[in-house]
Amino acid sequence: MKKHNFSAGPCILAPQVIENTANAVRDLNGIGLSLIEISHRTKYFEPIMEEAQKNFKELIGAPDNYHVLFLGGGASLQFAMVPFNLMEKKAGYIETGVWAKKAIKEAKLFGEVEVLASSADSNFSYFPKNINIPSDLDYVHITTNNTIYGTEIHHDIDCPVTLVADMSSDIMSRPVDVTKYGMIYGGAQKNLGPAGVTFVLIREDILGKVSRQIPTMLDYRTHIKEGSMFNTPPVFAIYAVNETLKWMKQMGGVEKMYELNKAKAQLLYDEIDRNPMFMGTAEKESRSLMNICFVMAPEYKEKEAEFLEFAKSQGMEGLKGHRLVGGFRASTYNALPIESVKALIDCMREFEKKNA
Ligand code: PMP
Repeated sequence: MKKHNFSAGPCILAPQVIENTANAVRDLNGIGLSLIEISHRTKYFEPIMEEAQKNFKELIGAPDNYHVLFLGGGASLQFAMVPFNLMEKKAGYIETGVWAKKAIKEAKLFGEVEVLASSADSNFSYFPKNINIPSDLDYVHITTNNTIYGTEIHHDIDCPVTLVADMSSDIMSRPVDVTKYGMIYGGAQKNLGPAGVTFVLIREDILGKVSRQIPTMLDYRTHIKEGSMFNTPPVFAIYAVNETLKWMKQMGGVEKMYELNKAKAQLLYDEIDRNPMFMGTAEKESRSLMNICFVMAPEYKEKEAEFLEFAKSQGMEGLKGHRLVGGFRASTYNALPIESVKALIDCMREFEKKNA
């Protein structure tokens, strides 16, 4: 039996994505060859790359002056590529967790970093509000969903300078106004597909403004010019991303994902708030729709391992919280069915009956 997969990433993918990708590995569209044993520069693979870029733009609603790139190196390489390509002197960063801190660390190698807001004072349990953004910055960097802490910003901020967003863990979970961003990037391995590919959505006019030399492979302009085919792209991951994008389109697009994500999160947060054995860790306004973090209430603290064991016996996987927060984290990405959330809630209620 398939388990309820609450993993934070890599994570659950839609069944048809796994099925279609597995078939393409066996035999791509009946050509008598596997997806992973052909050149990327063929009439077999090129249309897949083009379709993935087109589907990405269509689903997120990006105007024509944005380019979609599929690169290697993970979101972590983007932490360095962003300042390498965009920072002449100074950039603003919003410090909302470990991933934001890692992005800040890399940016400091290239210039001055101004931390515009931080929630470090409370173990990143909220997303800072009313952030004042000076206009003398080369760009501002934001992590829209904080995978480890379960906090998320639920709107697109107005920014007087280029806004760059790490959307690794909430890409296409809610509609965004792309025009408010100069660049959106992330590892694909949550809402978009398997590990191995990084998506970058970028507006070309933000490039070419820094005086330093940029190695060819780290220059976004190289990848724009070559359509993400400067070097061998991660063909397997890109195929699965395109299957995920096709699945999302069939489901009704990002609006539909948002509706389902809100419904799933509401059910689970309601149970966390109702059940005396559990409590949420993020401030209510900042609660993530993607990573729902909770712990045992103080009087049941010693029951944590027992609950995890019990949940596991009921077919739940990936529920252990990150060590920096503890407790539990239920990741409710796009592909997680609402039935899995209901099964987890049943589990929490049954545990309450046994213990409270
Ligand atoms: N940013 C966020 C918000 C993440 O959740 C992660 C990975 N969990 C990363 C960046 C790093 O991504 P990668 O492993 O692709 O480098």
